[in-house]
Amino acid sequence: AKEEALRLLPGRKALPVWGGKDAILEGVQKNDTVIVLADTGSGKTTQIPQFLVRSSIPCDAPRIVCTQPRRVAATSLAKRVSDEMGTQLGGLVGYTVRFDDRSSRATRLKYATDGALLAEMLADRDLDKYDVVVLDEAHERSLRTDMLMGFLKDIQQRRKDKVRAFQADKGKGKARPSAQNGEAAAANGANGDKAADSRDPTELKIVVMSATIDAKRFSDFFNNAPVLYVQGRQHKVAMHYATEPQPDFCDAALKTVFQIHNKLPPGDILVFLPGQDEIDSLAASINAYLPDLEKTKPNLGTLLVTPLYAKLPPTDQAKAFAPTPPNTRKVILSTNIAETSVTIPGVRFVVDSGLAKEKRYHAGTGIDSLVTESISQSSAKQRAGRAGREADGYCFRLYTEASFNALEKRSQPEIQRVSLTFALLHLLANGQDDVFKFHYMDRPDKDAIIYAMMTLHGLDALDGKGRITAVGRKMANLPLDPVFARVVLASFAEGCPREMLDLVALLGSKDQLLSVPSAVRDQATAARQKFVHRSGDHLMLLNMLRAYEELDGKDERKAWCRENFVSHKAMLAVLDARKQLRERVERLQLGDWEATAGDEPEPILNALIGGLFANTALRQEDGTYRHTLTKQPVAIHPASTLHNKKIPAIVYDELVLTTRTYARTVSAIEPTQIRAKAPAMFAKSLQ
Ligand code: ADP
Ligand code: MG
Repeated sequence: AKEEALRLLPGRKALPVWGGKDAILEGVQKNDTVIVLADTGSGKTTQIPQFLVRSSIPCDAPRIVCTQPRRVAATSLAKRVSDEMGTQLGGLVGYTVRFDDRSSRATRLKYATDGALLAEMLADRDLDKYDVVVLDEAHERSLRTDMLMGFLKDIQQRRKDKVRAFQADKGKGKARPSAQNGEAAAANGANGDKAADSRDPTELKIVVMSATIDAKRFSDFFNNAPVLYVQGRQHKVAMHYATEPQPDFCDAALKTVFQIHNKLPPGDILVFLPGQDEIDSLAASINAYLPDLEKTKPNLGTLLVTPLYAKLPPTDQAKAFAPTPPNTRKVILSTNIAETSVTIPGVRFVVDSGLAKEKRYHAGTGIDSLVTESISQSSAKQRAGRAGREADGYCFRLYTEASFNALEKRSQPEIQRVSLTFALLHLLANGQDDVFKFHYMDRPDKDAIIYAMMTLHGLDALDGKGRITAVGRKMANLPLDPVFARVVLASFAEGCPREMLDLVALLGSKDQLLSVPSAVRDQATAARQKFVHRSGDHLMLLNMLRAYEELDGKDERKAWCRENFVSHKAMLAVLDARKQLRERVERLQLGDWEATAGDEPEPILNALIGGLFANTALRQEDGTYRHTLTKQPVAIHPASTLHNKKIPAIVYDELVLTTRTYARTVSAIEPTQIRAKAPAMFAKSLQ
């Protein structure tokens, strides 16, 4: 491990942030909060937390947590940094993401998702375990990073107060005799392995890291915190626009990729597309043309297509980062995951569809759905910048210059476009009694707040006065979306917690578990036919888990996964998630999770409605479905086993907006079940 670390050192020292190391450390030393701006690939995420770990700011042996909006980023960065430091993952460097914790008492630098850090606040309100919080990818303005920013302002003040009170007590001789952070810790050598609660209080330093946009907003929010700008190695990027609007961006992307390959110098191509469907479809088109290309232009070399999106199994994701083989040009087809959070070496060409899939709150239903939207100008600039990391590059925008100029300047923060049930439940559970008075960097819409409060009331998480209930506290302590937390609580009343913990664990990884390239989609559907259940997709998932668990050996289980086009890695993640959920349920004393409904689907469906009552739709006389409350049309997604089946009512996990509003992961229910299991105020609206 040490040799590997030595091998990596020269490369690290050449990164732009190394030039700013002293300035950054001095900035953190002298200020409560600093903002660090640098381009993607400058070394912010991997290097700056290491600088801090090796410093004695704000105390000897400081403990650092660095947040990431994405799970893949947190886990892969921890691994990389652990290698760079010559240590084993989970020792000095670790990570915590939902359902997966590789950290220990020895961990001094932890990468965590913003959601995981928020969850820690429920037990450690002032984040006393940490001396420095690094908020990374702050420009993404993810819901949870925004929530952390709001909380951290108060936490920083409370930590100052604690230090002051401690020192005053010490002056009066009241301080408890504990090892001091200063000399005693130094005498302990580098061994920072002391329980957090035996440490003296420290002030909390905050480092906000962002790609080069929007510095002033962060600085204003954190009381004029200084902004440190690290000059990156940006080369020239030649911009090309479409001369007229493109009716079919996938087709335009296909042509552009082949034109680049035919006419332009070597270098990999990074194509930004909105989502997995477009990625699969473009991958299939490119691959379909390859035999022709190799026949007609054998000297040109071939194209290697590698998809990249968050829900792709990790082993497949790794292919996008692997070195390009000789005589080959790699074409990475990516969602906006590659916009700022990951660095892909070798890219000289960027093709930008100008689109991204974003979560959006469905006004009226309170439901989040994934919608394809135009990106902002600042996103478009970030995307273009990915072509100029190592040498001069090219960016092809598949939209006109006029369209670019018409784009929003910057993206809308997530807090202003998604359902606020999770956010508000956590604000309340963390002692923020008035959700309107929270430090929002950008205030969400008042109606969205009110709607979320009503939903939480419907879920029994809030009482009539908007105060959090005992049920609400339990929900906040389950590492699940409030709706699914409520489903788990309902499963105890329905007598099926065993099945429901299986199910929510499965739902957490269902995309990684079941996603297959479009080329083998029909084969996969055929192989999985034996698991189909008349009640629909949820029970089918449970059937699959049962079949898998009936097998004993690891090899048998792996073979089963291959036969049924299931990701084995994702299945292991499901078992892990379930284990953690069971432990959590025991710790919260919610009841005996081993209680089971056996083969009975009714209790499971009843429990689902107990949380997902707002995700139900009723069949109309003309055969279409309409949302129970709003009467908006909803169609069953073609990938559902209930597609084209005639059932009176459905309950579903999520809506996806494409050409229509599709319900994904659907189960068949009876309208009377909605009336019986949904909260009174909702059930009343059923005619
Ligand atoms: P930033 O956060 O500023 O975008 P990073 O710290 O993520 O930059 O990455 C800095 C550099 O470290 C990258 O340009 C890349 O060369 C290297 N790097 C980061 N992660 C990995 C990894 N997992 N494998 C190989 N190289 C990596
Ligand atoms: Mg980074």
